[in-house]
Amino acid sequence: MTENISLDNLKQNALAELAAVSTADALEAWRVGWLGKKSQLNTVLRGLAALPVEERKSLGAAANVVRQDLESALAAREQDFSDRLLESAPGIDITLPGRPWLSGRLHPVTRVINEITDIFSSLGFSVVEGPEVEYDRYNFDALNIPKEHPARDTMQTFWVDDVDEKDERHVLLRTHTSPMQVRFMEKYKEPPIRIVVPGRVYRYEATDASHLPMFHQVEGLMVDRNVSLAQLKGTLFEFARRFFGPERRVRFRCDFFPFVEPGVEMAVECASCKGAGCRVCGNSGWLEILGAGMVHPKVLEGVGIDSTIYSGFAFGMGVERLPMLRYGVDDIRLFYSSDLRFLRQF
Ligand SMILES: [Zn+2]
Repeated sequence: MTENISLDNLKQNALAELAAVSTADALEAWRVGWLGKKSQLNTVLRGLAALPVEERKSLGAAANVVRQDLESALAAREQDFSDRLLESAPGIDITLPGRPWLSGRLHPVTRVINEITDIFSSLGFSVVEGPEVEYDRYNFDALNIPKEHPARDTMQTFWVDDVDEKDERHVLLRTHTSPMQVRFMEKYKEPPIRIVVPGRVYRYEATDASHLPMFHQVEGLMVDRNVSLAQLKGTLFEFARRFFGPERRVRFRCDFFPFVEPGVEMAVECASCKGAGCRVCGNSGWLEILGAGMVHPKVLEGVGIDSTIYSGFAFGMGVERLPMLRYGVDDIRLFYSSDLRFLRQF
């Protein structure tokens, strides 16, 4: 049994070398050299198949014993290494519990945006985003809000350059997400178009419990043949049913926005008083959540879509309002406070 003798030799040599190993790198090199795919031991094991049955059995058993011995010797040496590492670092108390990781989470406003876009995605809308620094033309003119239009006064605007106000390339921080309606239609002229646009918008306004100079909106747009107010209503009802739950009543009323005709506003029943009237809803029993309407023919024509063939609806909702209603938050500023105790509740 010369093979067994050489296996013994192999084991002795390997163990002698292991005893001399003094670094982690050398330990790994030893493992690869003596137990790896190209090791002598592995060559012996792979050669077994070619041997006669009796010889295969005895040599195979012996080789496996050697392998187990080497593996346990390696494990013992690894333990030595980690023990020594800890001993060599006095001042570290290895019995102390570890420091917990501070796990992050999504901001409630982000979570609500994700929820809204998920609902509209499942209804066939794509999610797109647009620039927050915008041209006057996209923010106002192309949405049927010309220079002298009073609707401009309702959206206090941050202008970011000194260009003449009459210049079409006047630049501002967008006051709503609606410019992306025009940008998208300009780029993809061919209906059907179904998009939702979440994002930040800016108004030059004093800060109070319900106003911030920066907040979020989600815009929606659908353009196709034969799109009607009934489809607008159906889509928004379905959204409200999924977001607020099937038991909350929804109200539609006429409203005015320059880029839609006719325009509507949608309100949901106040959750605090179930429609009876309370402080939260200003005693009306209802809370407005969005404005909507049929896209104005002028807006469609402005981007080269034939308004005699195609029609569409659009809607825009303020995002912060929704988690405020859902969680009973009475001051919008809390969402953006540096005091994280508020946010950690969510
Ligand atoms: Zn109420």
